[in-house]
Amino acid sequence: MNDAQRCPACGASNRCSLADPRTAANACWCFSVSIDAQVIEALPAEQRNKACLCPACAKVLEQLEAAKPASER
Ligand SMILES: [Zn+2]
Repeated sequence: MNDAQRCPACGASNRCSLADPRTAANACWCFSVSIDAQVIEALPAEQRNKACLCPACAKVLEQLEAAKPASER
């Protein structure tokens, strides 16, 4: 796992599809959610726009759950 695949806040995999060449053609989970600007602003400036946050740190787990088809919940 390289740095682009790691959440800058907690170090876990950010599951960014664009950071992995095998899934780079897929839309990332972050395209379908809205991340609170306060979450981004809480990051150190040098970590912004480098790597994606993980869904937990971006506080979008509820949005991702809501976007899933009922059969996958
Ligand atoms: Zn995280």
